[in-house]
Amino acid sequence: MNKVIAILIAGTIGSMLKILGGILYGSNTLFVDALTSIVNIIALLVVIWSRRVTIIPPDSDHHFGHERFEYIGILVMIVTYGFVAGISITRLYYVREYSVELNAFYLAVAAILAYSIAIFLSRSAPPSIRAYGAFTISEVLEGIVGIIASLGGALYSYLIDYGGAVLLTSYIFYEIYEEGRNLASFMADEAPPPSIYEKVVGIAESEGFSIKSIRLRTIVPGKYHGDIVLSPGSTRYENLKNLKKKLGENGVDVCIEVSSP
Ligand SMILES: [Zn+2]
Repeated sequence: MNKVIAILIAGTIGSMLKILGGILYGSNTLFVDALTSIVNIIALLVVIWSRRVTIIPPDSDHHFGHERFEYIGILVMIVTYGFVAGISITRLYYVREYSVELNAFYLAVAAILAYSIAIFLSRSAPPSIRAYGAFTISEVLEGIVGIIASLGGALYSYLIDYGGAVLLTSYIFYEIYEEGRNLASFMADEAPPPSIYEKVVGIAESEGFSIKSIRLRTIVPGKYHGDIVLSPGSTRYENLKNLKKKLGENGVDVCIEVSSP
């Protein structure tokens, strides 16, 4: 857990440096970038929270387990992105000619160093934190845009800095789209990939059953739920128990029914 705290501190320092660069030294690119790094910190908190919640076994109010709490994290991300997108648009809409100080550029360089530390630490962290590290790589790419734009803004024209800010704002909308697609596939109860069907049918046939119909939905990738109707025939109770057990081992939790002849 100490490592997670170190990552959180490095990420927070990175964000603070960008906010200072944006507010004190006039770079709008850094300002927008700072907003996205606030999202980044919230993402890390969400990861830490969902890691604790999703492993809770099924209980009286969540019969299928708590894995789907992961998607509440996505919702939080979308809302946060939407909020910072609004702030960015408002700021960029009312902009007049401005000047960027060279200090903004130095802060941008310092911020990218802080993020590099966070990413480096997250590489040897547990898988869910590693996912955060991968997510933070976009923060470094944005940081590079910040460095180029603030330097160009300080040395040549504020329009270079303004262009960088518009670019990063567009990226926020792209992130909203991506996270939204993620959430939509869950809300629409998407079917699992065909390979899962093939596996279920294969297991059933190896136990001597033939499947009449099958319905599956994804709880989270790797965990599926649904129902199976078997053709009448060899439906010995022992075989059924075996089928259920084998499917369960493959992450498929189904209700099995035998159709009447
Ligand atoms: Zn519960």
